[in-house]
Amino acid sequence: MHRVTMLEGDGIGVEICASLRKVFRAAEVNIQWDIYQTGEKHFEKHGELISDDCFNSLEKNKVGIKGPMTTPIGTGFRSANVFLRKKYDLFANVRPVKSLGKIDSKFENIDITIFRENTEDLYQGIEEMEDENTAKSIKIITRKGSERIAKEAFEFAKKNNIEKVTVVTKANIMKFTDGLFLEVAREVAKNYPGIKLEEVLVDNMAMQLVMYPERYKLILTENLYGDILSDLCAGLVGGLGLIPGANIGKDIAIFEPVHGSAPDIAGKNIANPTALILSGCLMLEYLGEIEAATRIKNAVDKTLSDKNNFTRDLGGNKSTEEFTDAIISNL
Ligand code: ATP
Ligand code: MG
Repeated sequence: MHRVTMLEGDGIGVEICASLRKVFRAAEVNIQWDIYQTGEKHFEKHGELISDDCFNSLEKNKVGIKGPMTTPIGTGFRSANVFLRKKYDLFANVRPVKSLGKIDSKFENIDITIFRENTEDLYQGIEEMEDENTAKSIKIITRKGSERIAKEAFEFAKKNNIEKVTVVTKANIMKFTDGLFLEVAREVAKNYPGIKLEEVLVDNMAMQLVMYPERYKLILTENLYGDILSDLCAGLVGGLGLIPGANIGKDIAIFEPVHGSAPDIAGKNIANPTALILSGCLMLEYLGEIEAATRIKNAVDKTLSDKNNFTRDLGGNKSTEEFTDAIISNL
């Protein structure tokens, strides 16, 4: 039995977490949840976004899954999500983007995994007003940070027989920071003679991805470019409600959907739980429960192959609960 810490989060977080637990229970997965309310509601009651009990549970279980969290102004946090990634040094943000079922989207057969560096770049929050009219933000890229994400990407390529890694930077302009990230990717690539390193500039990458997304299998990139390109890639396959994510560190991993808390549809029982359920499957794979992960992924794919099951974001009218039950009947 694996014990996993669940952070329910804000907005649609509670609803999609309930959906995930229901599917996992029906699939008889070997998981016991330690469930914590986190985010805005918890902050209103206790003056903190995440309780110490929740942190302790994460540190004990080493594996967590979380719904999206908003970070209200006045909490002392810039972003609770960024804080967690930094606290546990979750350096690799892995986001697989795949075509699913019969979803109407501009492309078919997309299968791109994004490896986004998760701790550096402009996300360190080193920002200041130099004077009233001048704002400054500092971008940090280190050799160590670049090397560990590049290795993670190449190891993944090797394991999954992917013959090309596409490294995305703006090294022609940011010669030091992006230059270093690129240089390190080249060095790491030398240890993987069977895998080609393809170098693309981020502006060109944006165009390539909306014209020929099927040419790309694995994208290795920095924090900010990875953030933007993963929303772009989500758009290629039918939207944010579908894309799972993993934040992986040396000994702790936290799984979460790419989308945010979607306050506009919260509490209405219409959110699409797919992204969180597939994040749960990434978690099962991480825990070595490959069979269970495959069974649930297949049930999700089968459910999304019948348009009658679609939630509103996909053009249908099924509720979160109805969609969840359809997955369960397809298990
Ligand atoms: P946050 O500030 O937490 O990032 P946001 O307002 O940016 O929240 P997102 O969650 O990023 O909202 O969502 C952007 C749009 O996509 C919203 O209109 C939202 O309703 C929709 N959306 C996001 N996730 C889902 C989902 N799982 N199911 C249905 N619609 C979703
Ligand atoms: Mg958002």
